[in-house]
Amino acid sequence: MNEAKTARKKKRAFVDSALCVACGCCAKVCPLSAIKIWKGITARVSDRCVGCGKCAAECPASVIHIREVEHI
Ligand code: SF4
Ligand code: SF4
Repeated sequence: MNEAKTARKKKRAFVDSALCVACGCCAKVCPLSAIKIWKGITARVSDRCVGCGKCAAECPASVIHIREVEHI
């Protein structure tokens, strides 16, 4: 078998919750509704996120980062 090295990479947004001010700007621009404000405290990203970066570009606090994750 030679499938070991074919693990696909997927991008996803990550929020620095400690610095998020829960303004909701990210949630407004996400085309997949993949980021939401949780309990009025911080933004949270769901598995629907495809890492397009729209939320990160919109965040006034610059606390969203797009990273590659292993897609299993
Ligand atoms: S990276 Fe794109 S898909 Fe993911 S939460 Fe942000 S706007 Fe939505
Ligand atoms: S735009 Fe930035 S600061 Fe505002 S809720 Fe989203 S992650 Fe938090």
